[in-house]
Amino acid sequence: MIGFKIPFNKASLEGDEIANVLKAFSDMHVAGDGGFTRQCHELLQAAIGAPKALLTTSCTHALEMAALLLDIQPGDEVIAPSFTFVSTVNAFVLRGARPVFVDIRPDTLNLDERQIEAKLTAKTRAIVPVHYAGVGCEMDLICRLASARGIAIVEDNAHGLFGSYKGRKLGSFGQFSTLSFHETKNITCGEGGALIINDSKFVERAEIIREKGTNRSQFFRGQVDKYGWVDVGSSYLPSEVLAAFLVAQLEVSESIQRRRHGAWSRYQTELQSWADGLGVGLPFVPAEADHPAHMFYLLMPTLAQRQAFIAHMWEARIVTPFHYVPLHTSLMGRKLGYVEGDCPITESVSDRLVRLPLYASISSEDQSKVIEQVLAFRG
Ligand SMILES: *Cc1c(COP(=O)(O)O)cnc(C)c1O
Repeated sequence: MIGFKIPFNKASLEGDEIANVLKAFSDMHVAGDGGFTRQCHELLQAAIGAPKALLTTSCTHALEMAALLLDIQPGDEVIAPSFTFVSTVNAFVLRGARPVFVDIRPDTLNLDERQIEAKLTAKTRAIVPVHYAGVGCEMDLICRLASARGIAIVEDNAHGLFGSYKGRKLGSFGQFSTLSFHETKNITCGEGGALIINDSKFVERAEIIREKGTNRSQFFRGQVDKYGWVDVGSSYLPSEVLAAFLVAQLEVSESIQRRRHGAWSRYQTELQSWADGLGVGLPFVPAEADHPAHMFYLLMPTLAQRQAFIAHMWEARIVTPFHYVPLHTSLMGRKLGYVEGDCPITESVSDRLVRLPLYASISSEDQSKVIEQVLAFRG
């Protein structure tokens, strides 16, 4: 059928999203920090076991808040993977910090914890691990390195809501962690995010930075009798309309997660022998990691085969994108002085990785078409 395609990702209405949005409008409480936002905060705090969650307009903005809260200054250094989305480091670069890129592990594609120590200097202020595909980084060593030197950890947990490492929830390890509710993530409101604060001493200032540098949150709670400008800040809180949508998704997260896991496991089971035959890598999940079925990727043997695979899938109108273009070899990375060869595993994985369609509402028939078309690829 011409024009029909199987997308890589499709957001879906899962519960009370529309009813909640209409309620936000009929109550005419559409600015931020109303009842729906409070419900989101409670559900996120419970999901991660964190003392404080604050909804933000994006994961990018939550990362920017973390950089402000840590008082990152020009010349400071921040350790991060190069194999990630640009916001992981841009939030810190905005404050004048230099990103110090560490290569990834060839198995989990997470920041290689064994390479961090050699990159630490007197200027290192934060380590920003990304739990790629929601598979936890080796947090034991990362936490040890950070606490021994008084360095902060900011987990970019955009992929990892509901994941855990050694039984502990992802997003609960760092002083801060950040979530994304972008359309491409497991739980969505279109554009949105959250800052998770695990160290309570940052809560008061976080509320101020999120509210334009004012103590308006304290005013609304009756703690001060007028509010004013008390610190730097910006506008990082989303409208109730988005929170209304988001809470409906969070309320049915078990159902969303169950269907994502079903589709993820089906790919694994039905593609394993094909992958073994062609030397294609499938996602590696260590025994100590519980992942949230955010992504199912293939690691093709070569760049040429990856490109041929994408073209082959498109013949059946199936969208299979690659990512990430390494940050260290990007235009900006080069301006910062990085060159090709600085992170060889990142470069190789970036050339060879491709992602399969995965979303809660993918039908069994559509997934069968994807699997059939994958199995027809012979190299
Ligand atoms: C999606 C994503 C982000 C950015 O999320 P936004 O909510 O769009 O700002 C940051 N980091 C990673 C690893 C992501 O996947």
